[in-house]
Order: sequence, then C-alpha cells, then structure tokens
Amino acid sequence: MGVVIGAFIFCIGLIVGSFLNVCIYRLPRDESVAWPASHCTTCNRPLDWYENIPVASWMVLRGRCRTCRSPIAVRYPIIELVTGVLFLGAYLVFGLTLLLPERILFACAMVVLFAIDLEHQILPNEITLPGIAIGFLCAHFLPPGWESSLVGLLVGGLFPFLIAEAYLRIRGREGMGMGDFKMLAMVGAFLGWPLVGITLILACALGVVIGGGALVISRRDMATRIPFGTFIAVAALACAYFEGPLLGTYARAIRAYLSMAGLAS
Ligand SMILES: [Zn+2]
Repeated sequence: MGVVIGAFIFCIGLIVGSFLNVCIYRLPRDESVAWPASHCTTCNRPLDWYENIPVASWMVLRGRCRTCRSPIAVRYPIIELVTGVLFLGAYLVFGLTLLLPERILFACAMVVLFAIDLEHQILPNEITLPGIAIGFLCAHFLPPGWESSLVGLLVGGLFPFLIAEAYLRIRGREGMGMGDFKMLAMVGAFLGWPLVGITLILACALGVVIGGGALVISRRDMATRIPFGTFIAVAALACAYFEGPLLGTYARAIRAYLSMAGLAS
C-alpha cells in the first residue's frame, strides 16, 4: 500500500514540477502564471496535451519543439524530476501527516527560488513575502510552533542583514541582496530559529565551496554576484527534510565546543 501511495505522490510531484517550470519562466518576466496555456517560447505555438506530459514529452521530443525544432531547455525535465523526488521524499520522511502538505509547499517554493536566482539573480517578492506569512500561520498548528517561527523569521531576516550592512560599510559593496534576507525570513518562519541558523551556515559553506570554485574556473571577477538564494534553497531543503540528524549534530558540536572551552563537562 505504501508503494502505491508513494508512486502516486511522486506522479503528483512530476505534474506540480511542470507547473513550477511555468512559474520559473514567467515570474521573472512579470507574466501571469495562469494565462495563457503552455506554449513554445520560440514559435509561440500552444502545446498539445501529449507535449505537456512531465519528463516523458521532453524525452520523446528529444528536447526540441515539434514544429520549430528549437531546443527545449534540459531544465524542464530536471525540475520535474527533482520536484517528484522531493514529493516522494516528504512522504517517506513525514508520512501522511499534516506536516506533509506544509513541507511540500515549502519545497516547491525553494525549487522555484533556486532556479530563478540561479538564472536571473533575483528572488521574487511574489514567493518570499507570502511565504513568510504562510510559514508563520502554519506554525500555529504545526512544528516548530509560532514562537520559534517568529524568532526564526526575525533572526533569519535581520541577522544576515546586519552582517551585510557591516560588510557594505567596511568593504563598500554589497555581499547579499534584499531578496536573500526575505528568503531567509521565510525559511525561519517555516522551520524555526535553530534550523534557519543551520541553513545560513550550510548556505555560506556551499557558497564558498561551489560559488568560489565556479568563479575560479570561469576566471571572473570575484565581485560577480554569487546567486546566494540558490545555496539557501539547497541548505533549507536539507534542513526541512533531515531536521533530526542535523539538529543532533548541531547540538553535539555546541556541546563539544563548550567542553573544549571548559564551560561544560
Ligand atoms: Zn516552437
């Protein structure tokens, strides 16, 4: 029975991933996500139903539009597959609980922010601002509870803002954008203050390793803006799905530090 439900949830994820692709393409272009129906972005021909099947259509069409033959980005099937896996993962981690739809909604927002920041270096308010409100509202009924959510929202939004302000004063350029703070506030509202802290640490580590590596390879100026929201999305998803192990490691690291400093046994 669990396998059937899992397969069903995975398929729902593929279909939702297809909609997330529409959001990823249209939100940065200020187009409506509801209208018009899916169409080829080169020749504008509306797609038939069989060209709209997640992953399968892209493979059958070999990544090209049926009429104008222009390439369809490999991003489309990848986003669909990732969303399907995230849906299935949420079912495996949370089971059929109220937390399942909440964490799935959060995961969808992270996928959209991940892709838009990577391509356009922006994090649309259309996602982050309602995200802050929805995360805080859900926390009244679900973990982490509204107190942790409120502290997470404020810490997530404010603390990095202060660091970035200091960086701006000292170095005279921006380290992070306003979108990053709003996204971190959203993560804090959904996951609570301990996890938004871990998210920030993980995102910085990813940013240094991957972002730094990419900059060295492409030999671009270090001032080229690293899409920090992309790393926040990956870190926040890890925190949302592996909350238990991550919090355990975090607590152990703090205890080890305290005992090293002679503050605790
Ligand atoms: Zn076309």
